[in-house]
Order: sequence, then C-alpha cells, then structure tokens
Amino acid sequence: MKLLLSTNNAHKVDEIKAIIGDMFDEIVSLKEAGISLEVEENGDTFEENAALKAVAAAKLSGCAALADDSGLCVDCLGGAPGVHSARYAGDQHNDDDNNKKLIETLKNYPKPHNARFVSVVVIAYPDGRLITARGEAEGVIVDDSKGQAGFGYDPYFFYPPAGMTFAQMKPEEKNKVSHRWHALKELRRLLEESK
Ligand code: IMP
Repeated sequence: MKLLLSTNNAHKVDEIKAIIGDMFDEIVSLKEAGISLEVEENGDTFEENAALKAVAAAKLSGCAALADDSGLCVDCLGGAPGVHSARYAGDQHNDDDNNKKLIETLKNYPKPHNARFVSVVVIAYPDGRLITARGEAEGVIVDDSKGQAGFGYDPYFFYPPAGMTFAQMKPEEKNKVSHRWHALKELRRLLEESK
C-alpha cells in the first residue's frame, strides 16, 4: 500500500520513512506527489488537528495518508501553549518570540516548570479508518537558552535523562528520545497489530 505524508518538512519525512518505511510499498511526501494542501488546524487537541490533516490528504489523494501535530505542554500553565505552540506569541510563527513569551509568563509561577513535548501521528485510510498514536518527552523549562541545535522551544527544554537541553543534544540523539520518535514507534506497533 502507498502512504502519503501530509507534511513538506524534509526532516519529518526522513524520520517517518526510517521508522515505518518498510511497512508500506511506497511513501511519498505531498511535494513528491505534486499535491498542495492547506488545512486549517482549528482543533482543540493534537489528535483532532492531526486527524484533520490526515483525513484531508486521504480524501484528496484517495490513498492512505499520515499527518502529525505536536507542541509543548507546560504543567503549571494548564498544558499551554499546547496546540497553539507554533503561534503562541502571535499570528506569525516566530520561535524567538514564542520562547520570550514563555519565559516571561513562567516568571509568575514557582519552579520547577515541568513540561512535556507531545506528538500525535494519525494515519487516515480512504475507507474512513483512522490509526492514532501519541508520544511524549518529559522535561523542565529552564530560564536560560542553552544549545544551538533543533528548533522551536528546544533551547529551553532541559531533558533530565541526557542532563542537557534538546538543543544541546545531537539531532540523532534527540531523534531517539523525542516525542515524535515515541509516537512513530507506537504507530509502528499499532500497524503491526492491525496486519
Ligand atoms: P508542528 O506540529 O510541527 O506544527 O509543531 C508545532 C510547534 O510545536 C512548533 O512550531 C514548535 O514551536 C513546537 N514543537 C514541536 N516539536 C518540537 C520540538 O521537537 N522541539 C521544539 N519545539 C517543538
């Protein structure tokens, strides 16, 4: 079976192919399939947003489609920024502004600022069936930015098992413990189970 990836992020495409590539005859990104798709992510949960994107891509292409949604949830903020992680500080996606707003907001709350990255991946099939998997990585938000690697909130996300922030870890190290990695591993398990 062919699987369409509802993302144009090359890094995500590689990661997805590495973990579940052998379970499909062919895996193609939207770009490779020549499909352009804009989906409004107006769900209240990562699950809803990932499903919106996967279902739209499956309907448009007529083949199975995978989409993901992810973000940072901080415990003392009731799970914020959550599904609004990309645009926490405004309509334009700006990592520096998002981080600035997060650190300013957290000054009003006692430490430690426990947090988790969450990733949800959904495969939608043309017959309407959905497979949903969630992965999480637990850490603590720190006041000072550390490290240059990664993206988004990584420089402020201290990951205790590694003793450093996600931005200080080598990409291949982060990829083996990240929320996306856990979600894709769980997805692989569910796909094997459904065979
Ligand atoms: P998306 O699901 O790729 O659209 O990610 C949503 C937002 O969540 C990103 O723009 C980042 O702000 C944040 N985010 C998701 N995953 C990560 C990560 O691995 N590191 C840092 N930030 C992340």
